[in-house]
Amino acid sequence: MLLSCRQCTRTFRARHGAVFCSSACRQRAYRRRKAGTRESLPHMWRWRRTKYGPLCDELQGRFGTPCRVFARGLNGSVGVEFEDGYRVVAPRYAVRAA
Ligand SMILES: [Zn+2]
Repeated sequence: MLLSCRQCTRTFRARHGAVFCSSACRQRAYRRRKAGTRESLPHMWRWRRTKYGPLCDELQGRFGTPCRVFARGLNGSVGVEFEDGYRVVAPRYAVRAA
């Protein structure tokens, strides 16, 4: 069976799990993805509510929205900035890599 490479236009004989025609194409694709996420918003807000109750009004409805970590605290908290510039300090598990 022949597959088309995700990185270039070549086709290649399918091996198990392969989506690129060569290791060069695979490396290029990974490098590009890394560069892209660094520029944009690499994290995702994943907090719907705390165990003490709902989040504050500014954070309601932000579940699943992209955000950026601009600071990391020693006590496990992170500073998070959203697309609209809203900033909040939250525990590290409130965000995950997108
Ligand atoms: Zn290729």
